[in-house]
Amino acid sequence: MRDVAYIALGSNIGDRDAHLAMARAAIAALPESRVIAESSIEETAPIGPVEQPSFLNQMIAVETTLEPRALLERLHAIEAAAGRVRAERWGPRTLDLDIVCFDQQTVSEPSLHVPHPEISARDFWQRELAELRGSMR
Ligand code: ATP
Ligand code: CA
Ligand code: CA
Repeated sequence: MRDVAYIALGSNIGDRDAHLAMARAAIAALPESRVIAESSIEETAPIGPVEQPSFLNQMIAVETTLEPRALLERLHAIEAAAGRVRAERWGPRTLDLDIVCFDQQTVSEPSLHVPHPEISARDFWQRELAELRGSMR
């Protein structure tokens, strides 16, 4: 199914801008997919119990026929290529790629929830979603 996926990009280790740029390029090169909008980049305070540097965040809208699970697998591979080491949850990372939502599909599985459960709790995601949807009209 052709649908629009909203992907959140985050980085708080090393050259954060370069990590976001690498992620945008890698997502643009995904099969069956086309980037249709990019939000502005925003700096946000870390979430959760771990003391760590602040994040650079951005959201992009991707028109794709990839299934949500297939997209998540691709995103995990891009995180790994950016040198991400999966240690503690909510810990610092070179690159974090989350599926925020799809326009039309939902998934509820142990390893994938779409929309992401925190969608309404994260103000910066709400701002970025509104910015993307505004620019796509
Ligand atoms: P949060 O998801 O609260 O932002 P996080 O990004 O730090 O936390 P990770 O350690 O990156 O969490 O991911 C943990 C697992 O969450 C992933 O391995 C993935 O299977 C699962 N997951 C569930 N729903 C989603 C989603 N919508 N997007 C990305 N990962 C998800
Ligand atoms: Ca995250
Ligand atoms: Ca994640």
